[in-house]
Order: sequence, then C-alpha cells, then structure tokens
Amino acid sequence: MTQKSRTTGSNTTTSKTGAESSATTFASLDPRSGDVIAEYPVADQAAVDEAVDRARIAARWWDAQGFRGRREWLLEFKKAVAQDAVALATLVSRETGKPYGDAFLEVMLAIEHLDWAAKNAKKVLRARKVPSGIASFNQAATLEYKALGVVGVIGPWNYPVYTPMGSISYALAAGNAIVFKPSELTPGVGKWLEEKWNSIAPTQPVLQVVTGLGETGSALTRAGVDKIAFTGSGPTARKVMAVCAESLTPLVAECGGKDAMIVAADADIDKAVDFAAFGAFGNAGQTCAGVERIYVVESVYQEFLDKLTAIVKRAEPGGSDESTYGPMTLPRQIDIVRSHIEDALASGGTAVVGGAESVGERIIEPVILTDVPETSRAVCEETFGPTVVVNKVRDLDEAVDRANGTSYGLGASVFIGNKAKGRELAERLRNGMVSVNSVLGFAGIPSLPFGGIGESGFGRIHGADGLREFSRPKSVTVERFSSPLRLMSLERPERDLNLSAKMLKFMHGR
Ligand code: NDP
Repeated sequence: MTQKSRTTGSNTTTSKTGAESSATTFASLDPRSGDVIAEYPVADQAAVDEAVDRARIAARWWDAQGFRGRREWLLEFKKAVAQDAVALATLVSRETGKPYGDAFLEVMLAIEHLDWAAKNAKKVLRARKVPSGIASFNQAATLEYKALGVVGVIGPWNYPVYTPMGSISYALAAGNAIVFKPSELTPGVGKWLEEKWNSIAPTQPVLQVVTGLGETGSALTRAGVDKIAFTGSGPTARKVMAVCAESLTPLVAECGGKDAMIVAADADIDKAVDFAAFGAFGNAGQTCAGVERIYVVESVYQEFLDKLTAIVKRAEPGGSDESTYGPMTLPRQIDIVRSHIEDALASGGTAVVGGAESVGERIIEPVILTDVPETSRAVCEETFGPTVVVNKVRDLDEAVDRANGTSYGLGASVFIGNKAKGRELAERLRNGMVSVNSVLGFAGIPSLPFGGIGESGFGRIHGADGLREFSRPKSVTVERFSSPLRLMSLERPERDLNLSAKMLKFMHGR
C-alpha cells in the first residue's frame, strides 16, 4: 500500500506505516485516501521529560483540589467535550476512517465514563475507618487511596477517544496529572482533548499530550512517571514492561483479544446473528474485544450460519459515513489479515463469504470462515480485520473448552435462552469480561472494570477498580489507648506472652 511521506526532517526513523520518517515532525493521514491531514511534532526524550516536569507541578495543584474540586473541574471538562462532540467525532472519523456514526458512539461512551469517574471518585477513594480486629482492638485503623502523581498514558488508534479516556478519566479523578502519548495514527484526537482541557484550565497542564512515533512512547516510559497505562498490542506491552522494570514503574496493560461468542440451541438466533455481525465487522473488525470466533451448537449451526451470511453479504464497506465500516486504519494490518485467511483455508477451513481475494488495497470486504482448525492462526491469533470464524460444536461444554483455548482472555459473549445457564457459562470462561445476550455489553457500563488476563494484559480500567488502579492505598493506625498486653517490647513480660497464647488457642484453635 502506498502512503504519502509521513514525516519531515533529517534523521530518518521507522514509522508504523513503514513510510520514511524523521526526528522532527510526522503527518497524520486520512486512511481513506492516504492524504495528509496535519503535521505534528515528534516529541523526543527532552520534550517528554519537560512535559512530565510540568505535570508534576500541576499534579500538586490538582491533588490540592480534593475530591470535590476535581469533580467540579472534570464535570466542566465533560461539558466542554460534550458541547463539541460533533467536532471530536468528525476528527475521529477523519483520522481512523471509521464512519461518523461509529465515531460519535465512541465519543458518547467516553463521556459516560468521564462522568462516572468524576462523580464516584470520592465514594471509592476517600479515607474510611476499617475494623482493627480483636488483636489490635486498641488501634483506630484508617484506609485511604492517594493519587500516584503523574500517569503516562499510551494509547492505540482503533478507539482513540474511548480507549485512552478509559485510563485518563479514572486517573484524573483519582487525583493524578496525565501525560498522554496518542498513537501516531491519531495524534489530532489526542491534541484535541488536550486543547479542550486547556480551554477550561489554561494555566494548569493537568492533561498534556506528547505526539510522536513509538520512540515517543518509549521516552514516556523512561521519563520517571508514577505509572504507565498502556493500551496496545502484546508485543509492545512486553517492550514497555521491560523498560518499566528498570525503574519499578507500575504498569496497567490493556492488550488484544481473540474473543469468542457462544451460541446455544435455545438462543434467539436472529438477535445472536445481528450482534455477531456488529461485533465481528463493526469498525472493520478493529476492536480489541470484538467477536473473532463463534462456536455454535450443531442443532442451530446451519440456521445461524445462513442468517449471518445473509446479513454480512448486505454489508457495504467504504469511505463514506453511510458505509457499514471503513478502510483499515493501519495499513500494516492488511497483510496480517490476509495471512490469517490464507492459513485458515490452507489448513482445511472454508470461506462461505469472501476469501483471500476480499483483501483490497485499503478496504477488506467481509470474510466468514467455517470449519477452521483450532490450531490455525485465524483462531489462535488476534485478527484486526473484518473476518470471523464460525465453528460447529457438539455442545456448550465443547464451546467453553474451545473458547478458553487461546492464550488471550479479554472478553466473550454467550447467546442463550436460559439466563441462569448463561451466567454459569460466563463463570467458566477464562477471561475478564462476558456479555450474555449482547456483545460488548460490559464496555458501556462505567461501574464495571475493563481488562483481561493472559496475553490480553493485566490490571483494570473503569469502575471502582479502575479508580484504585491509579491510586495507592495508604494505611494509617492511631492508637486509641495503650494495649494491656506489652507484646511489641524488647522487655516483653512472660505473663503477656502466656496470656496471648491462651487467647490464640481460644480464638483460632477450636
Ligand atoms: P501498538 O502496540 O502498536 O501501539 C500502542 C501504542 O504504543 C501506540 O501509541 C504506539 O505508538 C506506542 N508504542 C509503540 N512502540 C512503543 C514503545 N517501544 N514504547 C512505548 N510505546 C510504544 O498497538 P496498536 O496501536 O496497533 O493498537 C492495536 C492493538 O491494541 C491491538 O492489539 C488491540 O487489541 C489493542 N487494543 C486493546 C484494547 C484494550 O482495551 N484491551 C483497546 C484497544 C486496542 P505508535 O502508534 O506511534 O507506534
């Protein structure tokens, strides 16, 4: 795929699109045409360090606002973003190539999360008394959650507002200042968010954005921040983690997925098909928690497949806002998607819609693959494109076994009439999130933590856990009165130890 030059300057480095790049500026491109949208500076280590220094000063002011003050600021920020949501969605659509409606949905969801984080931080993180237990009954125990300081956020391009804001909103609400490195494919969206913050608090750089290529992200991991919130691929997460290990910088890693959908015999098939099509092909399949594998029990397999085939054949990918989905945002993914289709077919799978020829220069037509061996790359590795594998299973036990068969563990969905059975299956799925009778149901509920296990990463954003992820617990005890037993003394009386031994037996030895 040909791309216009992305950068200007003298020292050449490699950009994500494989185009020539330099150390001074780079271009954001329209994935529909390859045209340059705007130029952005490449922030080097010095520029990133300066941003982190500024953030550290701003963090003191932000922390001093307290929960109530931050809530007011964040709700102001939310209002400013919501009032200008059309402009933000238009920019998202421009930089990612996704239809405007999809971009707007993403902005709406991000605003919901910002609202929840602003309104719930105090309840989740404020200081509270906790029980001190019988052995320490003379102590008053208090637990509170303190801000970490400066959080470095490294984001992907597929949901350039929703995904990083899932970290930024919760980290801000917990009292941290942010330095955000957006993907090199969506720098404009990052800058937009920074400018929106600056429009309400121009002298307090609590949310700063540094633009650049992978090296800028790497510089952020070396800049002495108090935590890194990384969203992206597993291979990059490993690099980030290796750098974080040098300074014991904590990390939350939200990585890719290979999410399965399970369809039971008593499922509402029309509904399952509708959600399957959206989950697999929406955003051109470039969704970390999108549907990639579908396991359908044999009694309803053919009906499901026929209906899914019919709906997918009506899809019209393209570059307009009316298109079902847009072009591939990251050109390099196109070859990976093609190789997964080819591998599935070479290993015995069948293409019932499309095939390797569906992979175009910018747009990939939808592909449905069936009877694909579980060892195929199309089943085991993340396919960031509009393809889905539909495999027949004997029963729900086999479906769960196969769903649990990859090294990923992000989300999953179950379509089933018996909701109690659906909950049971959800429990048995080895991952972070499950939706019963919908797809991605968990993503729009701010009080639910979001994240995965295994190759899908660790740690959580969203919800109370997301707020705590960007805080450090602080434990304080205040002695209410002197303990009648002097156990913590170099001159411990023997009588006190004997008494304690009797108490231990009475309390725990019965
Ligand atoms: P990458 O891993 O390529 O990049 C992610 C971010 O890391 C980008 O901002 C990138 O910058 C930056 N980066 C690249 N190299 C380094 C480095 N050495 N040190 C620090 N930062 C670096 O992922 P993609 O952008 O391609 O995103 C797609 C992936 O993200 C998919 O696997 C997807 O599943 C996952 N994802 C996970 C989500 C989740 O919540 N679990 C949500 C959304 C996506 P640059 O772009 O400039 O190279």
